[in-house]
This record gives sequence, structure tokens and C-alpha cells, in this order.
Amino acid sequence: MPDPYAPALPRPTEPKPYAPAELRALDRAHVWHPYGPMPGRQEPLVVESASGVRLRLAEPAEGQRELVDGMSSWWSAVHGYNHPVLNEAARGQLDRMSHVMFGGLTHEPAVRLAARLVEITPEPLQHVFLADSGSVSVEVAVKMCLQYWRSAGRPEKQRLLTWRGGYHGDTWQPMSVCDPEGGMHELWSGSLPRQVFADAPPDGFDAEPDPAYTTRLRELIARHAHEVAAVIVEPVVQGAGGMRFHSPGYLRVLREACDELDVLLVFDEIATGFGRTGQLFAAGHAGVSPDVMCVGKALTGGYLTMAATLCTSRVAEGISRGEVPVLAHGPTFMANPLAAAIASASVDLLLGQDWAGEVARIGTGLRSGLAEAAELPGVADVRVLGAIGVVQLDHEVDMAAATRAAVREGVWLRPFRDLVYTMPPYVTGDDDVRRICRAVCAAAREG
Ligand SMILES: *Cc1c(COP(=O)(O)O)cnc(C)c1O
Repeated sequence: MPDPYAPALPRPTEPKPYAPAELRALDRAHVWHPYGPMPGRQEPLVVESASGVRLRLAEPAEGQRELVDGMSSWWSAVHGYNHPVLNEAARGQLDRMSHVMFGGLTHEPAVRLAARLVEITPEPLQHVFLADSGSVSVEVAVKMCLQYWRSAGRPEKQRLLTWRGGYHGDTWQPMSVCDPEGGMHELWSGSLPRQVFADAPPDGFDAEPDPAYTTRLRELIARHAHEVAAVIVEPVVQGAGGMRFHSPGYLRVLREACDELDVLLVFDEIATGFGRTGQLFAAGHAGVSPDVMCVGKALTGGYLTMAATLCTSRVAEGISRGEVPVLAHGPTFMANPLAAAIASASVDLLLGQDWAGEVARIGTGLRSGLAEAAELPGVADVRVLGAIGVVQLDHEVDMAAATRAAVREGVWLRPFRDLVYTMPPYVTGDDDVRRICRAVCAAAREG
């Protein structure tokens, strides 16, 4: 193509860089942060750049200019930052087009990614909706399930059933299935759709499923099956709702009950997907497949926001047989080519290496490095699964003190509620895993 900008490309002058203090003052005055007040009360650290597993700060904090990232930017940056392969995918796509609408048009990055997701997820999942965030992918999943039953002539099936302790995002439907108590959305419990809640699944990945719990769970589903469109859960690991692990056996119980009782099953794998728990998807621990599945977070290796909702042909065809035979959802930035190209590169990068070996290696490092935390006063539990390490306190963590303690050790952590936890990038070396463990212990001690 000829260069349409060739003759007189106007180039804005480079803006003058802000001094860190100036930047922090503007941030405080104008910019919301996650779950934050306005104006902000905490002083966020200013990140200048990031590379590998390290964040580089604009000015030292607690004597540190670089921090090892123990959070993978909330589960997403599994390959670390500034990765040459992902950068190349981004640059290549940027030079072709960064975005084009998806209504009436399609493009290779989206098609390639969708086909790849179908290939690597459980077999019955065949159709892909590319959404622009995890929360939106959950909204889409819920819409699919409700519409499936509406199309089947059973519009009364429009509630959701979940277990307590979950987290599914911050938009309206996802909020309604987040843990109703002690969670971030308690304020809204009166205005949200009223869903059906089972008790949280009993703790312990390795624990045998509790028959009494299993019976109650089945009974609850049976009692509400006439009005419930879908059961939605995070398989094996409940993330932001409390970092709890449960037996994969409960997922088999849900699958059987849903099949028997005409209820759809949704797995929210937004946090657990792409290897974090030791299986490529956490459903793999149970050997069961959901009717609808959400992925996000690590999908783009942490580069851009993108998520996907996958469903079976039964669900898609059910919707298409209805009076309104379309899925009425279509975000402006649906299937963004830049994000899709990076996502495909990230998936290829992951599957092209011994990711399971890396996750197991980090898990081993976390297990040995966090063992001493169990002896600390104020620590209630220490648990590790895949590349996730959790220290649970017997009290609400002093977030500022705990964060400071971690930063002093040269590590970025984001403790919340009664939890100090880490899910490092898969490329974290053994020395850095040990450093992260020292920081988690320090944060648990001082938080
Ligand atoms: C983070 C998360 C979401 C929400 O994703 P966003 O991209 O933040 O909207 C939903 N479900 C689970 C399990 C998550 O961990």
C-alpha cells in the first residue's frame, strides 16, 4: 500500500517527562486505582519499565530500585515482561493494523487464536467469543446460558448457582456470583440479581471429597434446577475470593449433577488457565469438561486486555434455534487484532516449552521457601498448588506494612484480606523464587 501519510505527517512534539513526584500528585488527584478511594490514600510506586521478572521503579522504594514481580501482574504476565517473542508479535501486527471492527469483517489474528483455543481446550468446546476483559467474558457466558434456556422454551431458568468464596469479576452479573460476604461487592448485595449459593467447597486439593458436602451440593442443585440456567465456578482454585484450593472431585460431582438435572456448567478459568495450577486448564485435574468456559488474564501473556468465552456446539446450536437466533453481544473492540496476535504468540510460546516442568519447579521452590512461614506467629495456613503460593494469616493483613516488608526484600507483592500470596511468572529463576519466598515470609511477619 502507498503511504497515505507520506506528504506532510504532522508530528506532535514529545511531551516533557514528569518527575516522579509530579506524576504521583496528578495520579492522586485524578486517577482511580483498583478498589481505591478518590483522591487516593496510598502512595502507589511509579514503575518506569519492566523486563524479565523485574519491575524498574522511577525512584527507589525501601532502598530498592528493582522489584521481582511475585504477582505476574495479577496472574497475567506468565512469560515475564518485555519478552522478545511477544514484542515481535506486537510490532508485526502493529505494522499491519492494530484494530478493525469485527462486525462484517474478520482477520487472521482472531481466527488463528480462536482455532488454537478450540484445539487446546477440552474437546466439546468448539465456539469462541473474543471479549475485551475477563468480566465481560463472564457476562457473555451468563448471557449464553440464559439465552440457551430461553431458546429451549424455558425462560424461567435464569438464575445462577455457585459456591461461596468465588470471584468472577466486577461487572454486574459476575458480581452477583462473587462471594456474597466479606467480598469486595458486599455493598451491592441488595441490588444484584439474587443467585443461589452453596457453601464453599471444603478445603484441600488432595482431600477426599466430603460425602456430606457432596450430597448437600447435589440437593441444592436439584431443588433449584427448575429456575437455574447454569452452575458457575472457578475450578480447583478460588482466586481473588480467598485463594482456596479444593478437590477436583467436586467438579465431577457438579458435572454429573448438571447433566442429570438439565443445568449448564460454566468453568471460569480466567485465573487458573494456561498452566498456573499444573494442568493447562484446571478442569484437567478432574477430567471433566464444562459447557461454557472463560479464559483471560494470561491469555495475552499480560500484554493487552483480552478474554474468551468458549462453548459447546450444543449451547451454540441451542441459541441459534431460538426465536432470537443470535447472541446479542458485540463489543467495539471485539477480537482486537493486536491483542489476538500477541495471545497466539503467547500460547505458542507456552506450549513450545516444558511449561509443566517450569510450573512444577516453581511449586517445589515455593513449597520449600514458604515452609518456615508455617512456624510464624499469626500464620493460620501455608499452601502451594502449581505455581501458586499462599500464606494465610489469622488476622486481616496490614497491607501497607506487608507491602513495605516485601519491597524491602526487593519483591512486589499485593497482600489482601488475610492473605499474603504469590504466583510468579513461569520464567522466574530459582534464586528469584527464593527471594520471593523470603519476601512473603517478611510480609507475613510484619503484616
Ligand atoms: C480476574 C478474574 C475475573 C475478571 O477478569 P477482569 O479481566 O479483571 O475483568 C473473572 N474471574 C476470575 C476467576 C478472575 O480471576
